[in-house]
Amino acid sequence: MQRITILGATGSIGVSTLDVLARHPERYSVYALSAQTRVEELAAQCVQFRPARAVVGSAAGAAQLTALLRAAGVATEVDYGEAALCAIASAPEVDTVMAAIVGAAGLAPTLAAARGGKKVLLANKEALVMSGQLFIDAAREAGAVLLPIDSEHNAIFQCMPQFGGKVPAVREQGAGVAKILLTASGGPFLTRDVETLDAVTPDQACKHPTWSMGRKISVDSATMMNKGLEVIEAHWLFGAPAEQIEVVIHPQSVIHSMVSYVDGSVLAQLGNPDMRTPIAHALAYPERIASGVAQLDLTQIATLQFERPDFKRFPCLALAFDALRAGGTAPALLNAANEVAVQAFLDLKIGFRQIDRVIAHVMDALPHGAAHSIEAVMAQDAAARAAADTHIAGLSR
Ligand code: NAD
Ligand code: MG
Repeated sequence: MQRITILGATGSIGVSTLDVLARHPERYSVYALSAQTRVEELAAQCVQFRPARAVVGSAAGAAQLTALLRAAGVATEVDYGEAALCAIASAPEVDTVMAAIVGAAGLAPTLAAARGGKKVLLANKEALVMSGQLFIDAAREAGAVLLPIDSEHNAIFQCMPQFGGKVPAVREQGAGVAKILLTASGGPFLTRDVETLDAVTPDQACKHPTWSMGRKISVDSATMMNKGLEVIEAHWLFGAPAEQIEVVIHPQSVIHSMVSYVDGSVLAQLGNPDMRTPIAHALAYPERIASGVAQLDLTQIATLQFERPDFKRFPCLALAFDALRAGGTAPALLNAANEVAVQAFLDLKIGFRQIDRVIAHVMDALPHGAAHSIEAVMAQDAAARAAADTHIAGLSR
């Protein structure tokens, strides 16, 4: 029996994870669940899965959750705040942690899971983008196993049979890898006239052609910052330098990524675009379990297309490559400026095409330094957020 904590249980990844767990009650039990604000949804999950512990974002939320659970006769212990998240991520009772909080808020608890030597199922790419080598070192020192949930990275993992959950794969094992080919759908605005992008609404940006996801990552997919963050994520997970990572637009999202080897072989992982596949893969690794995802019918899909990304249409992709090459705390700067800009777009404070300009402004305005400690990373994150806020306030005035 594997005992599991889900950080971000009410989100898109959290709900998909519970869906897979519910199919295999004999293999998995839920130790703890967390949610920031959606207390009623979390209460319903607790009634169904009976975790020992649940964590929410505030004292008021904790009081509300406690009342709901006691009324339903559920004994789950309720707590709130970051220290409580770190506690459910690192408790001795836990084997596996699904890190599915969105954004920098997930860094501390995800790192706590790595330091606790857990099997860490990493959906929260921002945590790794920010902390990079520090995170990899923490995982390695504690003997944590890091399994990628991001569909592309999970695909790459499956296309590197020699990887075995040990990071970083390419650098350490000299695995004969020529290139990592990271596929991207191109999002909802792949073919839209660039000049009309100023007018797009948050709902249009969040309407992804092939995946159903949370709003932040959906906007990131529309700007392709998501792919940029994934390039940095691939760098850390697989130890591949920027030149070894290539982004390929593939609108059908059937090939989830590929690995090209020096002998000319290219391995790909295919499947319907449903996150329950990588979730089930990582949960059961190295075994295979049913996920609820329909079998792929290639004759129905018939055509698979590929094209090179246009860095002018998607300036965020270029900014992410710049941050990766700059190193140090530059990726943390990029990530924080992006989180603030995306939220400002969702809050109708800036237009879609201002997202990349805000990030570029912050990256130009602030020096980045060495990422010698988590404190240095968090200081860079805070400085970037303040600079982005000030810049946005000036724009919307
Ligand atoms: P979501 O917005 O649907 O859910 C986010 C979860 O995090 C919720 O449970 C929410 O309560 C919690 N949360 C939000 N802010 C928080 C805070 N400040 N403190 C603590 N908890 C907080 O997001 P999602 O789409 O499920 O994405 C989660 C993570 O997985 C992201 O890092 C995303 O990049 C990554 N990811 C998602 C998908 C996908 O298909 N949705 C695919 C690949 C990677
Ligand atoms: Mg992805």
